[in-house]
Amino acid sequence: CGIIGYVGVEDALPILRDGLSNLEYRGYDSAGIALGGGSVDVYKRKGELSALKEILPQKSTTTTGIGHTRWSTHGEPTDANAHPHTDESGDVAVVHNGIIENYDELKTELEERGHTFTSETDTEVVPHLIEEELATGRDLVDAVSAVVERLSGNFALCVVAAGHEGIVATRQGNPLVMGHTDDGTFLASDVPAFVEHTRRVSYPEAGDVIHVTDGEATVYADGERVSRDVVEVDWDA
Ligand code: GLU
Repeated sequence: CGIIGYVGVEDALPILRDGLSNLEYRGYDSAGIALGGGSVDVYKRKGELSALKEILPQKSTTTTGIGHTRWSTHGEPTDANAHPHTDESGDVAVVHNGIIENYDELKTELEERGHTFTSETDTEVVPHLIEEELATGRDLVDAVSAVVERLSGNFALCVVAAGHEGIVATRQGNPLVMGHTDDGTFLASDVPAFVEHTRRVSYPEAGDVIHVTDGEATVYADGERVSRDVVEVDWDA
């Protein structure tokens, strides 16, 4: 029930790991991290964060990644149902808070086109749909924008994909907040995830598609570039 994302200049792994700890108060049954940048590496486990920490490396060489604490709605708490979820190639990784209401028909459609699913979640349709859009030559922002058009329900999503820079995120119903530092950007369900790094935040609106790259966050609404006010939050870390 929590999302954290980071793109900047520091090792993403400890930032994501600490961010997930800061989101523990929201409750969860599983947790996971996907490191992005050049390739995508996924680590996920059901249970406490301590279980995830057992399989995480101490540090990484990547400055891009996403993390998730899951409060399951579709599919038991298992390692396979934990987020991030990927397509078959493992090149597209997605974390999701909320519910994709029409996942059943999307899953049937994807299976008819030859996709194989490895979880019982509603979420897993998303990386498969993104994979198809990327295969048509779209960039990650356009791919996610196209997929969002097909989803109904409430969601906050963060996506990394091999060979695509940064993170693409979007929200509809569920919360997502951005944190801004001089050399990096955070994405999270709530401010405590990153408040030890920055109090400068902005709030994406429903339907916004955000591309966070090195030192920059670009927000699109209906395909047009928009800006969302950055405000200073008063919050005890
Ligand atoms: N519906 C998704 C699942 O069950 C996401 C749950 C959440 O918000 O943590 O995996």
